Amino acid sequence: MKVIIASNNEGKIKEFKALLSPLGYEPVSMREAGITAEIAEDGTTFSENAHIKAKAIYDMVKTPVIADDSGLCIEFLGGAPGVYSARYAGEHATNEERIAKVLDEMHGVDIPLRAAKFVCALYFIRDDDYEVCVTGECEGYIGEKPVGENGFGYDPIFMLDEDTSMAMLSEEEKNRISHRAKALEKLAAELSK
Ligand code: IMP
Repeated sequence: MKVIIASNNEGKIKEFKALLSPLGYEPVSMREAGITAEIAEDGTTFSENAHIKAKAIYDMVKTPVIADDSGLCIEFLGGAPGVYSARYAGEHATNEERIAKVLDEMHGVDIPLRAAKFVCALYFIRDDDYEVCVTGECEGYIGEKPVGENGFGYDPIFMLDEDTSMAMLSEEEKNRISHRAKALEKLAAELSK
């Protein structure tokens, strides 16, 4: 069964293919499905945003859809940047600028108070009668400076332990422990029921 992934991010599509193909699903990107719509993510939770995206696309094509929304939540900042992770330093800011803003806000905060997590919500709509939402989390803390070259977004300041940032993991290693991988595993479990 074809399932549209509400993304054009090749890395994400690859992860979806690896986990869902064995269950008989054939993930395709928005581009492959010929969908160019920009959908405003104006929800206040990851699940709400994933639902908004999935529903908008499902209503357009009436084909199974999976949408995801993810971001970084820092306890000391009351859960920020949260759903605003992509736009935290402004609409057109770079990863470096977003990281600099977080490091500035966390300046001088002791390590035990720097707890953070990546969160991913996945919303799947199969047809008018079946939809499901799952979430996955990956826990760590905010480092004092960026380290590592891999990954994207906030990975260089997301520490898994005192020697290892998310950006130091290979793609394969990250895909075993990430918030997205955990949510995908839960979705795969739901779909194989
Ligand atoms: P989206 O779910 O692709 O819209 O991602 C939202 C934002 O959250 C991204 O632009 C990143 O800033 C951040 N983010 C989400 N997942 C990750 C991750 O795995 N590593 C680093 N940053 C992430």
